[in-house]
Amino acid sequence: MINSWVLPFVLDSKRGGLETLRFALGWLDGEQITRHEKKWVINSFLPPFPGKAFDRMFENLLSPRHLSPVSAYLAVTSECQLNCIHCSLKNRRSANPRTEQWIDTLEGLEQLGVSLIGFTGGEPLLEKDLPVLVREASKRGMESMVFTSGMNLSPELAMELKQAGLWAIAVSLDHPEPEKHDEIRGVNGAFQKALDAIRISKNAGLYTMVTMETNDRSHGESQTQLLHKKKSRADQIMCRRLLSAES
Ligand code: SF4
Repeated sequence: MINSWVLPFVLDSKRGGLETLRFALGWLDGEQITRHEKKWVINSFLPPFPGKAFDRMFENLLSPRHLSPVSAYLAVTSECQLNCIHCSLKNRRSANPRTEQWIDTLEGLEQLGVSLIGFTGGEPLLEKDLPVLVREASKRGMESMVFTSGMNLSPELAMELKQAGLWAIAVSLDHPEPEKHDEIRGVNGAFQKALDAIRISKNAGLYTMVTMETNDRSHGESQTQLLHKKKSRADQIMCRRLLSAES
């Protein structure tokens, strides 16, 4: 499977086929590649293949002269209706730049060679011009994804974002038990909203991820089982390890 899609790089490369093949296979080692809407997804930190954004990233990786960041994350709003116990936003000052300033930023990131834009917040779905920014990123050959609590994702908004060119949505789940998740998030019903958002995102044809932060393997497994039981099947579940305060 890998050999067939690595082939274009081998043929295109100025490095020489064997060297590029070695590079590509080493780079993919340990990845769990998934399929979504006729594209391959290596992981959520890279744009899907094939595509303009992936080509740009790989060209930059192979070029000995030009080193570019693969991705950039834009906190498009500091607004959020949740009150998570782990939120660091309260202690940060935020200017909430205007849409035109974000468009200028996207232009600069395009010139830097960035391939993937992550929209974060606050809650990025509260930014009314998010579809405009997604469209701008897409127009400039960059893939984009949104990191959300899931609180504000309606089927209409998901479809609008998809049509603007959004590739993926990542929904955060903090705990497999609804009450505990809501307690961490500071709002009753946040857990159900997250599950609804996973389903809505999938139905809109977006690559759908669940992110959870845990050091506990069984926590991660029960979260996954719960999603399956609720028929909220994400395309990818990402467990990020929490750093111990004592380490
Ligand atoms: S969802 Fe994010 S921005 Fe909102 S309160 Fe929680 S951690 Fe803070």
